[in-house]
Amino acid sequence: MEHIGETSEIAIIGGGICGLTTAIALERRGASPTVYEAASEYRPVGAGILLQTNALLALDRLGIADRVRSAGMALDDARILSPSGRVLQRFDLEGVERTRYDYGYVAIQRGDLQQVLLDELGGAVRTGKACAAVEDPESPTVRFEDGMRISPDIVIGADGIDSNVRGAIAPEAETRSFDAAVHRSVVPCELPERCRSTGVEVWGHGTYTGGAPVGSDRFYWFATVPNRLESATTYHRPRAEWVREHYRGFPEPIPTVIESLDSDDIITTGLADVPPLDRWSRGSVALAGDAAHGMLPFAGQGAAQAIEDAVALAAALTTSEDPPTAFDAYERERKRRADQIRTESRWLGALGTAQSSLACRARNAGATLLPGGVVRRFRQRRILGASLAEEITADPEKRPG
Ligand SMILES: Cc1cc2nc3c(=O)[nH]c(=O)nc-3n(C[C@H](O)[C@H](O)[C@H](O)COP(=O)(O)OP(=O)(O)OC[C@H]3O[C@@H](n4cnc5c(N)ncnc54)[C@H](O)[C@@H]3O)c2cc1C
Repeated sequence: MEHIGETSEIAIIGGGICGLTTAIALERRGASPTVYEAASEYRPVGAGILLQTNALLALDRLGIADRVRSAGMALDDARILSPSGRVLQRFDLEGVERTRYDYGYVAIQRGDLQQVLLDELGGAVRTGKACAAVEDPESPTVRFEDGMRISPDIVIGADGIDSNVRGAIAPEAETRSFDAAVHRSVVPCELPERCRSTGVEVWGHGTYTGGAPVGSDRFYWFATVPNRLESATTYHRPRAEWVREHYRGFPEPIPTVIESLDSDDIITTGLADVPPLDRWSRGSVALAGDAAHGMLPFAGQGAAQAIEDAVALAAALTTSEDPPTAFDAYERERKRRADQIRTESRWLGALGTAQSSLACRARNAGATLLPGGVVRRFRQRRILGASLAEEITADPEKRPG
């Protein structure tokens, strides 16, 4: 059987985590896709990101998990704390994930992850190429904002939560906003010894903050702010000062981190997700990553699901003869899982950012009472359900035929 990936012209729209990983996964299987990225250049910017075990196992299929782990910080432990420092839940990553699956969680600065992916990619990325629309999905033409048009055999829309490619598949879909914005920063600081390989979330009353070390001297910090507070009146003084006042008295490492926080380095993002779509593909065009299932960040799974998409999509495209059949297989493998995790992320978001003190007390009590075994089984299911299409490897000798 002829493999689509090897013979077809494949355009990947969007060169973020999903687009780059999809391109690498296709290259590992012998294809030569072209990535079209809207930004005029790649810059080593952005906050941090936590890659959970399923993301690392998918990257392992591409032979790059160890490079990613070396560029970031492998965590031994992740904790959910109350503002007084009480441990509500503890994830013993060293004792469970790492022992059973070799990979725990890795926290990494986004720029560093991007660099690893760019280094691993054989083909070039065409930057400064913003897709305006995709026309005629059965025989697609991509129209770019600069007037350029291309007509590849296959188009993969990995252009993020505000995807333009999505217009060719689900034109009616509108993102759903969530009642919170999030502040993020990577803060250079010296962490207390006990916090150097631990990820943390603090569930306060209407305040949700945390992060993880992304290096020996850098911490990826985040905090949510309800939309009603995310207005000009909130910040009548520098943001970092507001944050310090708000989170004073929280457990370590939050005070150490926010002490070194610089207002100029805070990135603030409104939160939204993509509603469940009826389909992820039409004709020869398919969606992947946030374009297909952009989710709130509370489950820490958006990038992980994008990486699983990449592995599954490349496998489907190289084992089936025509694009619609390949995309059906990809969707069957991926859609239910991604949709489920997006729902879970909404739930966690509602819990994490709850405003009423009664609800917060009930939530924190519930989290403390939840047996460790239940949480471990849940984590295990997340890992075992990962889309890890077999037989993909960086080693050309071992590539599937
Ligand atoms: C606050 C926050 C924290 C998060 N934390 C985590 C976490 O800890 N763990 C985790 O797994 N996930 C996390 N996520 C989710 C994760 O960031 C996303 O799921 C992931 O980045 C999706 O990758 P993507 O490539 O699909 O989209 P994106 O990262 O958005 O990349 C899309 C790319 O397409 C380009 N593009 C956009 N429009 C066009 C166009 N028209 N034409 C061409 N190119 C275009 C963009 O420039 C960009 O490079 C978080 C998200 C947020 C908001």
